[in-house]
Amino acid sequence: MTEDEPSREFVERRDTVSRRDVIRKGAAVGGGAGALITGGALFAQQSGPTASPKPDLAGRKIRAFIRTSAGASVVEVKLQPLRDDMVAIRTEATQCCYTIVNQALGSGANGAGGAGGAVAARILGHGGVGVVEAVGSAVRRLRPGDRVLVTNTPNCGECYDCLRGRGDICQMNPSAGEPLVAIGELTDGTPVHQHNNTGGFAELMITYDWYCVPAFTKASASELAMLGCVGATGLGAVTTFVPVDFGSSVAVLGAGPVGLSAIQGARIQGAARIIAIEPIRARRELALRLGATVALDPNVEGSGLVAKVRELCQDAATRKLLGGRDRTANGDSGGADFVIATVGADFAQPAVERGPDPTGLQPTRQAWEMTRAGGRLVTLGVPRGDISLPAGAWSNRGRIHHAGQYGGVNAKSDVPRFVQLIDMGKFDAKALVTSTYPLERSKEAFQAVADRTTVGAVVVFT
Ligand SMILES: [Zn+2]
Ligand SMILES: [Zn+2]
Repeated sequence: MTEDEPSREFVERRDTVSRRDVIRKGAAVGGGAGALITGGALFAQQSGPTASPKPDLAGRKIRAFIRTSAGASVVEVKLQPLRDDMVAIRTEATQCCYTIVNQALGSGANGAGGAGGAVAARILGHGGVGVVEAVGSAVRRLRPGDRVLVTNTPNCGECYDCLRGRGDICQMNPSAGEPLVAIGELTDGTPVHQHNNTGGFAELMITYDWYCVPAFTKASASELAMLGCVGATGLGAVTTFVPVDFGSSVAVLGAGPVGLSAIQGARIQGAARIIAIEPIRARRELALRLGATVALDPNVEGSGLVAKVRELCQDAATRKLLGGRDRTANGDSGGADFVIATVGADFAQPAVERGPDPTGLQPTRQAWEMTRAGGRLVTLGVPRGDISLPAGAWSNRGRIHHAGQYGGVNAKSDVPRFVQLIDMGKFDAKALVTSTYPLERSKEAFQAVADRTTVGAVVVFT
C-alpha cells in the first residue's frame, strides 16, 4: 500500500458513514427544512425499546429545595413545557456540596444570586444522577430511559476551552456568562431557575445535554452522585488533569470528599508516598484507610508543617548523582512532587476540630511551599482573600501551578472512566457517602456538611 492509497478499512468506513448519507437520511425522515435536527432526534430515540414521544411537562408539579430571598425550603414548582434543547431527568440522588452551604443555610436577599445573574427563586444543587424521562427535539445524544450523571460543570465540546481540553472552564457554564433559564414557577407565579442550569435538589433536573454523561453501571445512585462534583474533582485532578507519576510523593491538604478522592486517585496512580493533611481526626483516619501513607494534623504541626512534609519526602537515596534528593540549605529542593490543595474558606464555624485558618489562605500558601522546586501544585479549594508569595522563588524555582475548576475534568471523556474505577473496585465512592437524607431534610443535610460532622451528605429520591 502506498501513501496515496487509503486502507481498505478506511474506504469502507468512509463509504458507510459519509456525511452525505447522514444528510440524506435526515432529509428522508424529517422532510424539508429543519430535517437534520428532526431526523437526528428520531434516529436517536427510535433505536431503543424505551423510546416515547416527548411528554408535555407543562403544568406538571414537582417538589424542589429552592432558595429565595426568604431563605431555602422545599416547595412545589409548576413546570413549563420542555425546551427543544433540554432534557428532563428523574433525579435519583444529589450531593450536598460545601460550596452551596451558604445558599442552603444563609439568609438575606443575595442568597438566590450567584453565577448566571440574580434570580428570585433558584433550585439548589449542581447536578446529580438520574434517569432521562424526556428529551427535546434537538437533543441527539440521549433518549428516555438512559441513566445519566448530571455534572456540576458542562462539557459542550464546541467552545474555545472545550476544544483545547479544558472542559472544566467550558463557556456554557453560567459562571462564564451563560444565562440561567426559567423552567417553571412557584405557586405565586415567581419564575423558577436552577443553580448552574441543572439544579439537583428537585424531583426532576431539567438541563442541557452537555451536562449529561451516560452512566452504564450498576453502582448505586449515592455513589454516582459523588462523581457529579467532589469525587470527580479530586479523582480527576490527579489522574487526568495532572496525572501523578507512579513512585512519586503526593501531599493532599484537606481530607474532605475532594481530598479523599485525590488520595484515592494518587493511590490508583501508584504514588509511593501519600501525605494527608487534615485537622479532623475522623477524616485523617478515613484518609489512611483510603490510601494515605501518613496523616498529619496541621494544628499539631503548626508552622513546622512544610518542614515536616519536606522531611517525609526525603528518599532513602539522597545523593544528587543517583537521582535522589539532597537536603540543600534553603530546603525547597525537598518537598512533595505533587501537592493537591483542597482547602477553602469556612462558610460557617465547624462543630468539630477547626483548621488553623478559616480563610484557607495559610494552607494554600503552605501547599505552594511544600511543593518541591520543579514539582506540581494543583489548587482546587476556594480560599478567601489575597495570597502573597516570595517573588524570587515564585519566578525561578520551577514549580508548576495548575488551577482546576472541577479538577480540570472533561466530563464527557473522563467521568465514564471514573465510573469504571468504581465498577473495578478501585475508587471507593461508598466510603465518601457518610450520610443520606430525603429531599424534605435537605437543610439538615447541609447543616451536617457545614458542621463538618459528615464527609459526604447525599439526598436520595425514592
Ligand atoms: Zn460542588
Ligand atoms: Zn464548552
